[in-house]
Parts: sequence; structure tokens; C-alpha cells
Amino acid sequence: MPQKLLKTAHYIELGNYQHWPVLIPQRIRLYTYEQIPLFLKENPYITDGYRAHLPSKLCLKSIFILSNETVNIWSHLLGFLLFFSLGVNDLSTVLPASGANREDYVIYVGLFCFQVCMLCSVGYHLFSCHRSEKTCRRWLALDYAGISVGILGCYVPGIFYAFYCNAFWRQVYLLTVLSLILAVFCAQVHPRYLSNDWRWIRMAIFCCVAGISVIPACHWVWLNGGFTSDVVQLFLPRVIVMYLIAGSALLFYVTKIPERYFPGQLNYLGASHQVWHILVVVMFYWWHQTAVHIMHFRHSQPCSTRSGSSQVN
Ligand SMILES: [Zn+2]
Repeated sequence: MPQKLLKTAHYIELGNYQHWPVLIPQRIRLYTYEQIPLFLKENPYITDGYRAHLPSKLCLKSIFILSNETVNIWSHLLGFLLFFSLGVNDLSTVLPASGANREDYVIYVGLFCFQVCMLCSVGYHLFSCHRSEKTCRRWLALDYAGISVGILGCYVPGIFYAFYCNAFWRQVYLLTVLSLILAVFCAQVHPRYLSNDWRWIRMAIFCCVAGISVIPACHWVWLNGGFTSDVVQLFLPRVIVMYLIAGSALLFYVTKIPERYFPGQLNYLGASHQVWHILVVVMFYWWHQTAVHIMHFRHSQPCSTRSGSSQVN
């Protein structure tokens, strides 16, 4: 058998009692937390299943082996395929069928941002095992940039439809969000941005960029006549669900729950980063469905014909 086709059986631990044999290409091996380079040591509760020291080609090949990054890679690869298919469906069916005008294609802009976010994440988790620390850092920076693009993808359709009948505030908020995201990109250029000391500063920046959305949300409620107005009652629950999903995703990300209570037992399945990945996909999907919903609402109730305190022109 040619050398490159030789594979080795490798027994891995799923939980602390099941042992699964997996076939791993000969030049890829898995390492324990103690064995990996310092720059890969991020979560001590994930004790095994690390890929490390690989050239680009083997990083790519490692997509087909079971490591502690497999679920992270595939969850966002499938997430990308989901948003890509939704995009094709929107462009070919949903938007034309609902009589969308040119501006309504903002829904696709959101989906495109989600696709970029998913691909950046897949790239990072695939190449985080690269033998060069510099390459790993570049992919990490791209992953963070992807999260910013994903947040932008939530803001753009959200602000666009929330302030559908108020061009002034729509422009103010869209420009504010664009400037904020641009500021985050600039911060990422700082040499210490990716260092471990800046972990909490990074978190604070992302919380600010996402959390500042409370301001346009409250403004939207106020401009539409408060909690009793129809449009607020129709869409506020959806916005609250969005915040709940985002909040719980962040909670898993920051606290490293549940693996901190079961160190070494959730190396391959059930770790906090995997839950964060899945919740991000659910959150983006939820927000896209909300955007389609509000688009239909705006088509059925154009600004100029709406009456009472909810009219904002
Ligand atoms: Zn990730």
C-alpha cells in the first residue's frame, strides 16, 4: 500500500467511559493539553484531542478526522450551507414572490454577512492547528473579523426595517453601526489585540458593539408609540428572543460551561464552544426569519397609509 494511504487506528475517549476507534491519516496525530504549544492553550478543561504542528495541507485534511475541533468546523460549515441555501431561496423565490423592491434585498445583505462569518470561523478552526503561530494568529484575527461581519448582518436588516418609515434615524443608526464595526476592525490591528491579556478588552468591545443595539431598539419602541402599539407587540417578542439566544450564546462562550464541571469528559462533544457555535447559527437563522416576516408586514402596511400613533414618517 502506498505510504500516503497508510492510516493508523487511534482510540479516543468520548466521555470518560466510551472508547471509539477512529482512523487518522498517519501524519496527523492528536495531542493532550500539556503537549500543545503555548499559543494553543486556551481551555484547560479540554484535555485531549488537539491537532498541532501541521502544514496547511494536513490542516485541510484534518477536517475528516475526529478531533476536539471537528464539531466546531462542521457546525459552521453546515451553517454556511444553510445560509447559502437560504440566500438562493430568497433571491429565486421569497423576494420575487413578495413583490420586493430593490431595497428589500437588504435581507440578502444580512444573509451574505452570515455566510462570511461562518466561513471565517470554519477557516480559523481548520487552520488553528497550523505549525506557524503567525498563521494561527492571522486566522484568529479573521475569525474575530467574521464575528463583527455577522453582527453587522444582524444590524443592517434590523435597523432597515425598524426605521423603515423614518429615513433620518435609519441613516443615523446605519452610519453609527458601520463606524463602530470599522472601529473594531481598526482595534484588531493593534499588536496586543489577540494577546491573552486583552481577552477581556476583546470581550468588552464585542459586548459594546452588540449591546449598543438596545438604544435603537428602545428608540424604535418609543417612536412607534410604546409597548401597546401593534407593530411593537408583533415584533418585540421576536427581538427579545434574539437577545435571549445571543445572551445564552455569550454565557457559554465566556464561562466555559459545561466542560469546567467535567474536565476531560467533553473533549469531543458537548463543550461550550460547540454550544456557542450552534447558538450563533440558530440566532442568525432566527433573525433572518424575523427580517422576512417584518418585510411582509411592511409590504402589507406601507408607511403613508398607516394611521395613529404608530405612524412614523
Ligand atoms: Zn469558534
